[in-house]
Amino acid sequence: MKFPLSMTAGLAGYILKNKMRPRPEWQKTVAPPADAANPFRILPARAGENGAERRQPHPMINKRFPIVLMLEPLHACNLTCTGCGRIREYESTITERLPLEECLWAVDECGAPVVSICGGEPMMYPQIGELVAGILERNRHIYLCTNGMFIKKRLHEFRPDKRFYFNVHLDGMEKTHDICVEKEGVFREAIAGIKAAKKAGFMVCTNTTIYKETDMKEIEALFEYLEPLDVDGHQLSPAYGYSAVNDREIFMTRDDIHEKFKDVDSLFKRFRLNQTPMYLEFLKGDRDLPCTAWGNPTYNIKGWKGPCYLITDAHYKTFEALMTQTPWESYGHGHDPRCEHCMVHCGYEPSAALGINAKLADSFKMLTWALR
Ligand code: SF4
Ligand code: SF4
Repeated sequence: MKFPLSMTAGLAGYILKNKMRPRPEWQKTVAPPADAANPFRILPARAGENGAERRQPHPMINKRFPIVLMLEPLHACNLTCTGCGRIREYESTITERLPLEECLWAVDECGAPVVSICGGEPMMYPQIGELVAGILERNRHIYLCTNGMFIKKRLHEFRPDKRFYFNVHLDGMEKTHDICVEKEGVFREAIAGIKAAKKAGFMVCTNTTIYKETDMKEIEALFEYLEPLDVDGHQLSPAYGYSAVNDREIFMTRDDIHEKFKDVDSLFKRFRLNQTPMYLEFLKGDRDLPCTAWGNPTYNIKGWKGPCYLITDAHYKTFEALMTQTPWESYGHGHDPRCEHCMVHCGYEPSAALGINAKLADSFKMLTWALR
């Protein structure tokens, strides 16, 4: 994600503090249980076992702490998008909502400096204005991820704040977006919401999922279209076919993703992309990054979702339990077949922000990116 300069400085301080003094109880290696939900899991071989050389983990891998909390106050939504795992995975609890106090308790318990309020459609949460105000009171930065259809109607419940962004989901120009969300008129409504929010002084960014069928030229056209609306940034993420969504046709392999993002530099130069340059290099296939899913923990109606936003092997009652009982090292590319083609930002953007597999010019790239 991209943050304003004050936010970047605050985040850099938070990351440095946690790198220097990580909480010891969060850094222990937990062995996966024998009855782990995935019986096909590839367990890392020990050195010397079957002639295997154990891959040396990067030192930062064992400095775990949260950076962005993904808070899902509800899973209900007014849409039924083709690639949405949430409305499918949580179908049995789709009418339930987290009480406001519990949402704020999760923010306090986790302590991450950034909160991404997602769902479901969080703008359908009755106390969404109070939730945002409560999180801002705690001096956290907020991305409110929305399909944009209720912005105009509920804008009066919010106050503009430089720490608060509406993050509007747009998967292409009007025709494509309305096909992706399976409803006509959504694009127009979302654009009307963006215009109303900008006019009222709010920060707004957009969030685009890249599918196998996505034409990157159309994404360029979308960003051009949004430029006169003075949108504050764009986020791109490759779609990933996790277990709740079984439509393999629309999701990409790692090779597909590299191909799709090979020309992303031209977008990066022209528009304010919210991703770190290192994460974009990872998407292009120019850099390897390990998964650091603990950097983006998820809390919802069932508890702390482990290991990540995409895969659910367990729901924990406390954040402490998520951090201390998840066998983190048995996930990620090369460890778990479910992770094989995953390159999503919630697993890999924290790795880039933490400086894992850093190169000499990275500090300069980060500074240039933050200043832009
Ligand atoms: S708008 Fe978001 S939560 Fe709703 S169906 Fe689409 S992807 Fe899922
Ligand atoms: S690679 Fe990481 S973020 Fe992706 S599915 Fe696996 S554990 Fe989740």
